[in-house]
Order: sequence, then C-alpha cells, then structure tokens
Amino acid sequence: MTNKCPLCNPENERLIWKGRLLRVIDASDDDLPGYVRVIAARHAAEMPQLSTQERAQVIRAVQICEDCMLEVMQPDKVNLASLGNMVPHVHWHIIARYRDDAFFPDSIWSARHRTMPPEKLQERRTKAQRMLERLPALLQALETP
Ligand SMILES: [Zn+2]
Repeated sequence: MTNKCPLCNPENERLIWKGRLLRVIDASDDDLPGYVRVIAARHAAEMPQLSTQERAQVIRAVQICEDCMLEVMQPDKVNLASLGNMVPHVHWHIIARYRDDAFFPDSIWSARHRTMPPEKLQERRTKAQRMLERLPALLQALETP
C-alpha cells in the first residue's frame, strides 16, 4: 500500500535542519513570520508510538525552537501545538504570537481579526530570518549526545 501521508512525502518544504530522527521546517506564511514545525522522521500518529529516544528528541527540538524564538523574536507569546487531526503523523507547531498579529488572541487556525501594517510585518520577517539562521547550529546538538 502506498503511504499517502504528506509528511512522509513532503513537497516544497522549506527545510531548516534534518537529523536522523526528525526535521524542522520553516512554516511561516504572509501573516505569521516566525512559525516552525518539528516533524518526526518516522510515521506515527501519537507520541507514545515513537521510541523513547525519538520522543525525547522531538520534545528537545521543540524546546530548542521555542527558546530561540523567544530570544530572537521576542514575541508576546509562543504557541505550541500538536494536533494531527488532519495529518496523523507526529509534528509540533511552534509559533511566535504578538498581540497585534492577524489572529491574536485566538489560535492561528481561527478567523482573522485584523490586518497588520506591512512595515511591522517586515520587521518581524527580519527577526524570523535571524532565528532561521541561528536554528541549524542549535539543532545540531541533537545529533551529539
Ligand atoms: Zn507520515
């Protein structure tokens, strides 16, 4: 049977870093600069279906992304989410949230509340870029126990 999972068969991903057990991609869009996704390498719907090591690495990667996002982007809040209702392959969303972003205070999957001024968005894109440049070296620590 062919595996139709979009995370097992990625297309047009913006890869930030890839290790043996997981990869991290840039999931930013026009409204949300500073949005990364940690994706388990192996197809599993739930965290307990991963090995202890895989699970620990996924959590550690989320922490690394969250720490870097807070430090570099200085958002008002970081949102962490693992849903998998649409795509049942373990992945975590790490999203920089600001009080004036398009969806705040609701989740990014909610209805839009506002449009941000382009110059403010551009400023955040610059910060997000700085974060993306820093992440690979930090994530590389996952490969050296
Ligand atoms: Zn999959």
